[in-house]
Amino acid sequence: MKKTLFALAAATLAAAASAAYPEKPITFVVPFSAGGPTDKVARDLAEALRKQLGNATIVIENVGGAGGTLGASKVAKAAPDGYTLLVHHIGMATSPALYRNLPYKTLDDFEYVGLVNEVPMTLIGRPDLPAANYAELHKWLEANKGRINLANAGLGAASHLCGLLFQQKLGIDMTTVPYKGTAPAMTDLLGGQVDLMCDQTTNTTGQIESGKVKAYAVTTTKRLTAPALAKLPTLDESGVKGFNVTIWHGVYAPRGTPKPVLDTINAALRKALKDADFVKREEALGAVIVNDNRVNPAEHKKFVESEINKWGPIIKAAGQYAD
Ligand code: ASP
Repeated sequence: MKKTLFALAAATLAAAASAAYPEKPITFVVPFSAGGPTDKVARDLAEALRKQLGNATIVIENVGGAGGTLGASKVAKAAPDGYTLLVHHIGMATSPALYRNLPYKTLDDFEYVGLVNEVPMTLIGRPDLPAANYAELHKWLEANKGRINLANAGLGAASHLCGLLFQQKLGIDMTTVPYKGTAPAMTDLLGGQVDLMCDQTTNTTGQIESGKVKAYAVTTTKRLTAPALAKLPTLDESGVKGFNVTIWHGVYAPRGTPKPVLDTINAALRKALKDADFVKREEALGAVIVNDNRVNPAEHKKFVESEINKWGPIIKAAGQYAD
């Protein structure tokens, strides 16, 4: 009897919490630097989502470092009240294989809210790199072994995964230069401090379009259709057989966030993913908005689990890990 009363009281409290939600600003933790691709997606999504949450204020907090694991850790430990959410990418699935002491359990310490988009990547080079296309780049890489710098956003970042696979497929080791996100990495690439980077189209399309970087290839098995990217060959057709990387972003809440609050966020997310401005902005940058059952929390979680199983052995075979 006591138990039933307690359960009833808890359910009433949770329902009251969700009826009022959100009654104060929501924070989106972005585990990379401001101005980079994850940040851009989070800011655009925040704009679409807030409209569905009674014009709520959504504040972006950039917690870069350690390939996205610092930001994810912050959210795993945050109060589970729906006011601290994480917008993260494929790093959710690659970090478990890379970090021996990951400070959270990817599948246990979060509530999965829904998948947002899928984003291809591009291989780009500093503006004065003496290679006009992928064939020339390959020759340059062979001729410059031991002297090549590859920027990334740390172990566990999408740029890390892409660069790791690229080095592995080519059998050429490069010196990786880690940043807190690919926004500062792009600044250094533009300035010629680093040679190469593999980054999301959401960060590279503008630079490719304006000819500010050398663009060599896309990481998908099919060429892309966005006007600035359509001319780029795939790595696969350029001779890096089987190269296929597409990354994705999703929304997460700390474990224990009340179900009614999660339901409210998920319902708002589903509508935000149909927001015409949001969809248009993402598509112009080569991203594809999720339009399938992975916007459902259980399917989102299953998908991340399948990505952990897919990338884990590949990363381990490459012999990369951190403490
Ligand atoms: N594009 C970055 C990465 O390599 C992250 C970022 O700055 O958004 O994962």
